[in-house]
Amino acid sequence: MSVTVRFAPSPTGFLHIGNARPALMNWLFALRNQGRFVLRYDDTDRERSTAEFAEAIAGDLAWLGIAPQQSVRQSDRIALYDAAAEKLRAQGLLYACYETADELDRRRARARALGRPPVYDRAALKLTDEERARLEAEGRRPHWRFLLPNHDGDPFVTRRAEMAWDDLCRGAQSVDLASLSDPVLIREDGSYLYTLPSIVDDIELGISHVIRGEDHVANTAVQLAIFAALGAVAPVFAHHNLLTTISGEGLSKRKGALSLRSLREAGVEPMAVASLAVLTGTSHAIEPADSLETLAGMVDLADVSRSSAKFDPADLGPLNAKLVHGLAFADVAGRLAGMGISGEKAEAFWLAVRENCAMVGEAARWWTAITDPVPLPVDADDADYLVLATSLLPGEPFDETTWGAWTGALKQQTGRKGRALFLPLRKALTGEEHGPDMKSLLPLIGRRNSVARLS
Ligand code: GLU
Repeated sequence: MSVTVRFAPSPTGFLHIGNARPALMNWLFALRNQGRFVLRYDDTDRERSTAEFAEAIAGDLAWLGIAPQQSVRQSDRIALYDAAAEKLRAQGLLYACYETADELDRRRARARALGRPPVYDRAALKLTDEERARLEAEGRRPHWRFLLPNHDGDPFVTRRAEMAWDDLCRGAQSVDLASLSDPVLIREDGSYLYTLPSIVDDIELGISHVIRGEDHVANTAVQLAIFAALGAVAPVFAHHNLLTTISGEGLSKRKGALSLRSLREAGVEPMAVASLAVLTGTSHAIEPADSLETLAGMVDLADVSRSSAKFDPADLGPLNAKLVHGLAFADVAGRLAGMGISGEKAEAFWLAVRENCAMVGEAARWWTAITDPVPLPVDADDADYLVLATSLLPGEPFDETTWGAWTGALKQQTGRKGRALFLPLRKALTGEEHGPDMKSLLPLIGRRNSVARLS
């Protein structure tokens, strides 16, 4: 089967790390199966959806390394939804209801008080044409419900109707349609709720696998019934656990700080975000993967655990540092150049300093240390030591052995060791009290600069 997946965000805000999980679960699945990835903007909520958010979503996905093969907007596809609604209406499967939200609330409360499940009783199906006309004349507009296939001809006598599917994350699933209310597909103002457009698009776009958060499990049984009513074969489903913070709190309240945008602006690597977003709540240990291809090879949907996917945002820092320590020069050359770090020394520089960077941006500090340090005051005890150090500085060329030879000679002459031997030199040469290995930095600083900084 050829694989086509989709990620379907509503462009009503910025993507956060919790949204990165379904986006990546889909993208990685497509990578593993040579499939296609469709970006579908669920923008039927015209008031809250904006073109700016849609653009930001595409930008944030690109930053993660996700390059959709196709992008569609639901707002361009209303005619398709109208046609599907008509098809359901023609089969008597979409019926007009006139209850107000208040009436429905009251009925649910009454059902609960009587110990009955608060399932819609299909009262609207009993309306006569005259009653309907009267309601319309009163100015009431209908909302439209889908008649679930949980009866044998008489919709007022329901029977068990198990909808079962084999979920790629959760295994065998089954929901009794008799326990559900007929879903509202179209609101009073004629706008569509999420359910029908999603199904129509999944059919139209040839979606083979629907991979999404487990908050949609309850929708799936209903959607399966609608796929069948529209004469379509339903896709395979996979519902993964949702990313939450350690306290179990959903991400909505935290999404500002954990938006992909703000993480990117803070200098976090996309692969640190991707590794955490995907590996949390799986049977796999959380470690930084160097590419999405690597990540795709590490986890599969079946590795997603059944319990929650709790993560600590504080883990991003160490994960990012671990990733940065292993980044090759080619991975960062462009960004370094953007910070003014280029030229023949740039690669050796990066290899010398990367282990001292928790974020790539910190390289700027070490570049300053090498090229233009801010001098630190020299301790009185060290003044003569630095004069001696200048006189013992080996000739060029400088290489990785220069530092050892130089400090060895200084040790012998002065009896200094440890901090007393090394720190005055580091401070004078780099303007820093700690930092990357001096044996790698000294050749980058060079003899002329060293002499100038020691005196
Ligand atoms: N727009 C829906 C959401 O963001 C899409 C759900 C789905 O993947 O079917 O929850």
